[in-house]
Amino acid sequence: MSKAPQIKRDFIADHVRTIPRSGIRDFFDIVQSMDNVISLGVGEPGFVTPWHIREAGIYALERGRTSYTSNYGLLKLRRSIARYLSTDYGLSYDPANEILVTVGVSEAMDIALRAIINPGDEILYHEPCYVSYHPSIGMCQGVPKAIATRVENQFSLTAADVAAAITPRTKAIILSFPTNPTGATLGAEEVAKIARLCVEHDLAVITDEIYSELTYNGVRHASIAAEPGMRERTIFLHGFSKAFAMTGFRIGYACAPAGLLEGMLRVHQYAMMCAPIVSQDAAIEALDRGAEDVVRMREQYKLRRNFIVKSFNELGLACHLPQGAFYAFPSIKTTGLNAREFAVKLLEQHRVAMVPGTAFGPSGEGFMRASYCAAMEDLEQAVERIGKFLRNV
Ligand code: PLP
Repeated sequence: MSKAPQIKRDFIADHVRTIPRSGIRDFFDIVQSMDNVISLGVGEPGFVTPWHIREAGIYALERGRTSYTSNYGLLKLRRSIARYLSTDYGLSYDPANEILVTVGVSEAMDIALRAIINPGDEILYHEPCYVSYHPSIGMCQGVPKAIATRVENQFSLTAADVAAAITPRTKAIILSFPTNPTGATLGAEEVAKIARLCVEHDLAVITDEIYSELTYNGVRHASIAAEPGMRERTIFLHGFSKAFAMTGFRIGYACAPAGLLEGMLRVHQYAMMCAPIVSQDAAIEALDRGAEDVVRMREQYKLRRNFIVKSFNELGLACHLPQGAFYAFPSIKTTGLNAREFAVKLLEQHRVAMVPGTAFGPSGEGFMRASYCAAMEDLEQAVERIGKFLRNV
């Protein structure tokens, strides 16, 4: 057999080679290889998709709905999205050319960044934050600039911190409230101040509001897109994965004024073409008849949040009460371990998986992320095991 020719060239582009692997995935490769692990790790709703939504998907297949759709997505779905955003968020988007159905918020974020970034543009984001923002900006050859948020403010963002980070090269800011991994929310007053800054400095805003249905204790979510002067500069992203427990359907959407959305459509039409039609049909059912499911799941998340936060505090891991999403973010500083050491030791010795705060940026050091969407029995077991672990560190 002849020897395979040696490849001398590295085909991977420089800006891709330098992207680190996701800290979460790395960690969960280890988890997968172990037995009897209780996972508070992934951001996966602790429920299967409500039956009537699954049934809408099944029915779509039964009717032979197996084709492409318009690049924008089904008009019927875009109309449902427009209605939902108008009623629940006070936002007005035209289903004809201001709403784009995507393969999850993941794709929506990617095409938003690809549509607006020129090489060298600075993009601000608050940190700790969802793992994709930093690498996604880098993949567009933009310059990611993190604004660290602090536990003293419950990890919310202040307009003063945003103002201090803006430079003449700043093109846009990514906002994501409620926040993964801290559960932070952004109060109406700060939303208004940040909006004024964006107008003053002529910045675009990409707002990832994937957890916006999941707020607790009467905290009302306010979208920055509804602030004066913001509609024309805002790309609003939302999806079905979290509130409707539809992660596997891979469906989300982006809304923006027609000109901005047209830029995103250009990327989407060549990269993705359209979102799966079966998922689009299921998403219509979710928006039109799924409101009660969201309330039911949110009530369960709230009970689990109260339990896990109280337990962490009783165990000596100081934990603020997150007002949104489904993550607790306790401090582990009293243990003397760093986040990665804590995560690995807890997993190896007691088979509980939590994600080190550093997976969400350097300002997550000293904290762990625990998803409280796991079943209550699992949370109880996990707390017992964490207690044993802490007695011996
Ligand atoms: N944005 C945030 C803040 C997330 O936490 C996640 C998933 O965990 C996503 C986006 C990805 O969502 P999707 O499943 O819609 O792609």
